[in-house]
Amino acid sequence: MNCRHCGSPLTHTFVDLGFAPPSNAYLTEADLSKPEKYFPLKVMVCDECWLVQTEDYADADELFSADYAYFSSTSMGWLAHAKRYAGQMTQQLSLNADSFVIEVASNDGYLLKNFVDAGIPCLGIEPTASTAEAAEKLGIPVLREFFGEALGERLAKEGKQADLIVGNNVYAHVPDINDFTKGLKAALKPNGTITLEFPHLMRLIEHAQFDTIYHEHFSYLSLFTVSQIFASADLRVWHVEELPTHGGSLRIFGCHADDAIQTTNTVRRILQEEAQRGMQTLTPYVEFQPRADTIKNDLLEFLIQQKKAGKTIAAYGAAAKGNTLLNYAGVKPDLLLFVCDAAVAKQNKYMPGSHIPILNPAAIVNAKPDYVLILPWNIAEEVKGQLSQDLPNTRFVTAVPEVRSI
Ligand SMILES: [Zn+2]
Repeated sequence: MNCRHCGSPLTHTFVDLGFAPPSNAYLTEADLSKPEKYFPLKVMVCDECWLVQTEDYADADELFSADYAYFSSTSMGWLAHAKRYAGQMTQQLSLNADSFVIEVASNDGYLLKNFVDAGIPCLGIEPTASTAEAAEKLGIPVLREFFGEALGERLAKEGKQADLIVGNNVYAHVPDINDFTKGLKAALKPNGTITLEFPHLMRLIEHAQFDTIYHEHFSYLSLFTVSQIFASADLRVWHVEELPTHGGSLRIFGCHADDAIQTTNTVRRILQEEAQRGMQTLTPYVEFQPRADTIKNDLLEFLIQQKKAGKTIAAYGAAAKGNTLLNYAGVKPDLLLFVCDAAVAKQNKYMPGSHIPILNPAAIVNAKPDYVLILPWNIAEEVKGQLSQDLPNTRFVTAVPEVRSI
């Protein structure tokens, strides 16, 4: 296989998590008596451009089923984040009724709603029908398509170039990152701004966040690599902000390569930090697998010890992270009774691979387990805050970057 950005042959493994079903393939009761399809979950690193990327595999189309969708608006923290972002950008770019904002992967409209409320024209691009429909109910126009160069050029021809193109947590999920980036170029007004948010590979490595690896997440990105991808599409990263979301994300600001705006010191500073951590050498990549294995072993040891001691353990958060962790560790319902999740669409289904039942959060309050393992560690404090009053004798633990009480 060759690198999805620069085409160099990929010969170095970053991490091999064995085989796993698609992280969003939640199962119904009837599915439990059918065979389940597993795909390799192996991530490679390119020693030319340092793009960390999932390995290609056969039947990849089967990974993306249309009947399941994640609704962003189920997370309160994320809603507040989106609102702050919209306010900040409106002020910084002086957006008004004559401006135009495009959001790629606009999901259920949680972000664009803020622009609609401020009277700023916008367009969402979202191929998932159920979330697109939710956005349209909020008064947001939505194109139900995948974004790439062809769509970018079509928007440009229709006079729909944007002052601001937003892509939150989509850049790492697109299979053809070069085509997507060319689409951004085509759909951007001459003095327009692109902002993209994605988990920062430097933090993933620093905090051993191997559970953020799943099939739908094609790329794991450093600022160095994104700057290279932008440059190859005649774009430039001119500013970057570090965000706490998803365990440490970057919000990059892009413009056309020839835009007069100066590149800020933040770009140089983060590029320098990445270089100091050896991210343009093989060392941090080849050292990653043993760290993931230690976490997996420690989690299993904890679960087995508690079971032997007669303690009960339930989990919270039936998200992709949890699926990667539980499937890599081989955890089944004998060690983890059930998982609670606030998303109604997942309730009364089963986690892919592990077949752990997913219940309404009320179940965890009724069961009063000795331990709650919070799988999405990025919202651990929020979850603990919601549950601790009803569960005064329960201890809350997370597994990544190490098994610990919070
Ligand atoms: Zn490469």
